[in-house]
Amino acid sequence: MSLTTNKVIKVAISSPIDSLFDYTPDNGKNIEEYPIGSRVNIPFGSVNKIGIVVSYSNKSEIDFKKLKSIKSVIDSEPIIEEEFIELARWISEYYIHPLGDTLFNMLPNILRKGGSYDTYTKSFWRVSKKGLNLPLESMSRSPKQKLLLEFLRDKNFNSQEISEINLITKGFNKELIKKLSEKELIKKIEKFYYPKNTQSLIDGKNQNLNLNLTGEQKKSINIIKDKLNSFEVILLDGITGSGKTEIYFHIIKKILPLMKQVLVLIPEISLTPQTIQRFTERFPEKIAIFHSGLNDKERLLAWRACKDETAKIIIGTRSAIFTPLPKLGLIIIDEEHDSSYKQNDGLHYSARDIGIIKAKNQNIPIILGTATPSIESYHNMIKKKYSHVILRKRAGNAKLPNIQICDIRNKELHHGFSEQAIHLIRNTLFDGKQVLVFINRRGYAPVLMCQDCGWNAMCPECDSRLTIHRKQKLLRCHHCNFHSKIMEKCNNCHSSNLVCLGQGTQRNAETLQNLFPKFPIIRIDRDTVKNKNYIEKYIRKINTGQPLILVGTQMLSKGHHFPRLSTVVILDIDQGLYNPDFRSEEKVLQLLTQVSGRAGRSEYEGNVLIQTYVPNNPYLSCWEKNGYHEAVFEILKNREFYELPPFTYMGILRADSKNPNEAREFLEKITKQNKTNINENCQIIGPIPLIMEKKAGKHRAQIIIKSKNRRDLHKTLESFKILINSNKKNYRVRWSIDIDPIEVS
Ligand code: ADP
Ligand code: ZN
Ligand code: ZN
Repeated sequence: MSLTTNKVIKVAISSPIDSLFDYTPDNGKNIEEYPIGSRVNIPFGSVNKIGIVVSYSNKSEIDFKKLKSIKSVIDSEPIIEEEFIELARWISEYYIHPLGDTLFNMLPNILRKGGSYDTYTKSFWRVSKKGLNLPLESMSRSPKQKLLLEFLRDKNFNSQEISEINLITKGFNKELIKKLSEKELIKKIEKFYYPKNTQSLIDGKNQNLNLNLTGEQKKSINIIKDKLNSFEVILLDGITGSGKTEIYFHIIKKILPLMKQVLVLIPEISLTPQTIQRFTERFPEKIAIFHSGLNDKERLLAWRACKDETAKIIIGTRSAIFTPLPKLGLIIIDEEHDSSYKQNDGLHYSARDIGIIKAKNQNIPIILGTATPSIESYHNMIKKKYSHVILRKRAGNAKLPNIQICDIRNKELHHGFSEQAIHLIRNTLFDGKQVLVFINRRGYAPVLMCQDCGWNAMCPECDSRLTIHRKQKLLRCHHCNFHSKIMEKCNNCHSSNLVCLGQGTQRNAETLQNLFPKFPIIRIDRDTVKNKNYIEKYIRKINTGQPLILVGTQMLSKGHHFPRLSTVVILDIDQGLYNPDFRSEEKVLQLLTQVSGRAGRSEYEGNVLIQTYVPNNPYLSCWEKNGYHEAVFEILKNREFYELPPFTYMGILRADSKNPNEAREFLEKITKQNKTNINENCQIIGPIPLIMEKKAGKHRAQIIIKSKNRRDLHKTLESFKILINSNKKNYRVRWSIDIDPIEVS
């Protein structure tokens, strides 16, 4: 009694329903004709859906006679291995997300939609049976056709197919090929091929660039080198500019000769042409690239190249963690603290944490590289769960910049700039060097206010003010898609006495242009960077080394290396220090360290000036005096005292609805109903509305669940899920679960 008794095929589909679906083979067919991991067409209610065969079973909860049969198999060979399904199961259980939807989330879009695995094909021709047997004399009236047939017969002798292009270059034209094909003497075969140098699959060029490693780099490489044979999490804790990337290169060079693959994850905003170029210059191997700018075809191409081991190095943003890599030998998560590794909607997952699980399952090392370790990783390092590799000096002749906190209380500002900041910018420019001005707000100004009645322009869909974008003459909401023309008159009292309050990148750029008209100003934020050519143009301009000013948001904080940039001015970080989210201080200190780290990265001395109304904030002072790590240690003490992560585990149940109060009432109701299932080791906070209660037309509320025991936390959240699923029809709210949330307010 084994496989042969199985009659039920368990199929996953992309759906919020938390179960697999049972089907039977089509009439007379054998269950083995539906291999696990292949896609199938199935009838589902009144529609057809794409499913993936996940497992077989000999029983079903549904009456056998009522089970529908599978319509057809899409893939003759499975598109995913059982290992892939196993990982999906783990993710589905850990993040409490339906297995089918998890699995579909992990696939490239074309595969999700049932599209062909062969995205790039070429036409090949070979002779048919009829063509093989035809006496050649019968073709003597069409000598050209005869020649082509003879040619293909010859090739057939060596079991060769010839590409259409090849035939054409040999002098056989399309017309001729068509004629033979119509007579069924030859037949066309479409075959997949790897196109050369696409956006997502690049041939590396080995330039044998050999830098003299610093002492710290050598030491780090030696330590890591001895850890490559089994699972270990290595926190590569090196200050900005210490040459971590160079260490990655050396370690990758040790892994590749073992015929293994290396996965490198990078935050979205660091995946610039510069980064890709650094990799392609160093390795002759094929490199697969995953980022949001790819089209579906390019993405599937890279996916396939990973799966069949064509690609040896894989560089990508968060979702690249899902690519199947049969020979994976090492995972590198660069800037491991970066919040873009966490997906905050749909399947709420952390690519870093899945990376660690993947490394553990496959018994391989994983390197977490950063200048500003996340609190979690830092804590795990202290607890000796991770090994710690430290770099405290910059590579080459560069030194860490000088930091000045500029107290702006009771000071007159010139459109947001202090006298001190303007002075520093002027000196830097006249000294022939470059300046970076950082403000974490794009647009012109964040508030449009009526001076007569105090009215503010608000987003009708969100609890948020509208930002003025002066160039486009628009008011935009930065939390939803709402935008409108800038009004001439107050909506409330019709006065035309409207003013723009506060600063954004556009306004800063304008102010600086007026102050320093002779110097170029380059604005870098999500609005300007939409255009790919713009990025390349600005990088070229910066690399000329001429004195100029960069004005930008946190897009500028990472990955960039501008040798002549010597001064950084940080305008507005206070908001981050006031934010009620318990992670906000950690995030501000990371941002400050990373942005400051752009200054003085080669032989020039770097200067950083930070304007603030709260110069005495204890974390800010500690950071300034003792650096990031000491400040993080203070944050850790605070987290321990208040029993916050990483000293406790956290999960959130969120709900939203178009109707005010409905989400909160829903959460209240189910918390009451679920009372007996809430584990005694779990603490429940809420339901409470989110700080921005209304967003994109939805009213939002949440309950936060904390526990010292991860299993108890999961059990409790699981019980909420089961309860909600069992009376789904009674609610009109949308809900989701977020495990290890990174945005809590
Ligand atoms: P990190 O990732 O640690 O911030 P990078 O790897 O980007 O630092 O290195 C910063 C700069 O220093 C780069 O321009 C890199 O080429 C250079 N660099 C790295 N290692 C060395 C070295 N041993 N000697 C000289 N320059 C180096
Ligand atoms: Zn008014
Ligand atoms: Zn809005």
